Amino acid sequence: MKNGHGKNILVAGGAGFLGSHLCERLAAEGAHVVCLDNFQTGRRENLQRLEGRDGFQVVEADIVDALPSRLAKMRFDRVYNLACAASPPLYQADPEHTLMTSVIGTRQLLKLAEASGARFLQASTSEIYGDPASHPQPESYWGNVNCTGPRACYDEGKRAAETLCFDYDRLGKAEVRVVRIFNTYGPRLDASDGRVVSNVVSQALAGEDITVFGDGSQTRSFCYVDDQIDGLVRLMEYDGAQPGPVNIGNPAERTILELVDLVLAMTGSTSEVVHRPLPVDDPRRRRPDISKAERLLGWTPKTPLEQGLRATIAWFEAREGRDRKGKRA
Ligand code: NAD
Ligand code: UDP
Repeated sequence: MKNGHGKNILVAGGAGFLGSHLCERLAAEGAHVVCLDNFQTGRRENLQRLEGRDGFQVVEADIVDALPSRLAKMRFDRVYNLACAASPPLYQADPEHTLMTSVIGTRQLLKLAEASGARFLQASTSEIYGDPASHPQPESYWGNVNCTGPRACYDEGKRAAETLCFDYDRLGKAEVRVVRIFNTYGPRLDASDGRVVSNVVSQALAGEDITVFGDGSQTRSFCYVDDQIDGLVRLMEYDGAQPGPVNIGNPAERTILELVDLVLAMTGSTSEVVHRPLPVDDPRRRRPDISKAERLLGWTPKTPLEQGLRATIAWFEAREGRDRKGKRA
């Protein structure tokens, strides 16, 4: 049976990059999907294929505020919490709101799940490992986060959200799944959101300077969006005993300069690389240990970086064309 068939599913943050792909996947499987979003970093345009379709609705609200009463009247089988700005410049723009989104917002959604008897999936992050002293990062690593730095509103918020989730689970209030998402990219990344793939691809296509922070020797491991969404759904539907947090990401680790070289070669761009200061507390290395996801979920990423970048670059090119047409009209 398809995972979503006939289920009532709430996707908080459903208008964002990952959330909109998740809503599409669940709707395609026959779920009734409610997307809850404040449109802080999400876009209506991301929901174009879904809006107006039977079984799909959007509720505009901020999860930090009191949730709309109509949500309390609905019954959900599943609650996915993806609501939280994920790009460092955007989550640092209003750090207090970012922290409260993870703490107050997650608590409100957990209460909703408890009232509904719904299973709850929390989108946590590789950022909870901070600047890791252990490499690659297994779920058993407790992390190295600076709790007073500019990234802390996000990292510590996500850590506290995990705490809440496991307490709800331990107390039998809600059955939870916690996924630690590693850097994910693909179509619908917002060109202006400041993350490395969106910056580098849009700069290369526009012939603008490519901004490399620091010397570009820091590493990330990039996971294609379809693989990531498949991991989230598999974890949500995992029926065994509480599995604890599960890393979902692609272990193929690259330096930022390697990523830039690949994008330049694939776009044929003549953009120059310019170096900018490394942001405070920027993690030096990051690579997931995914043996738990492989073992428990039978999940492994299928999309090599080059293939995923091809689809991402094509999407950015098409979007640029649409934007130009829009400006002329
Ligand atoms: P995104 O910014 O595109 O999406 C976040 C969505 O949440 C947006 O639609 C935004 O409007 C909404 N939102 C933010 N604060 C809200 C609030 N207080 N109330 C209601 N809605 C709110 O980011 P994304 O890349 O799609 O990330 C989705 C989730 O996955 C986030 O929780 C993020 O922390 C997590 N994550 C993503 C990555 C990644 O590489 N994309 C990595 C680690 C973790
Ligand atoms: N980065 C970069 N140029 C950019 C944007 C980001 O060199 O234009 C670097 C950033 O310093 C970090 C890496 O790329 O080392 C990934 O950054 P991103 O914001 O995408 O994700 P995160 O740091 O949250 O993993």
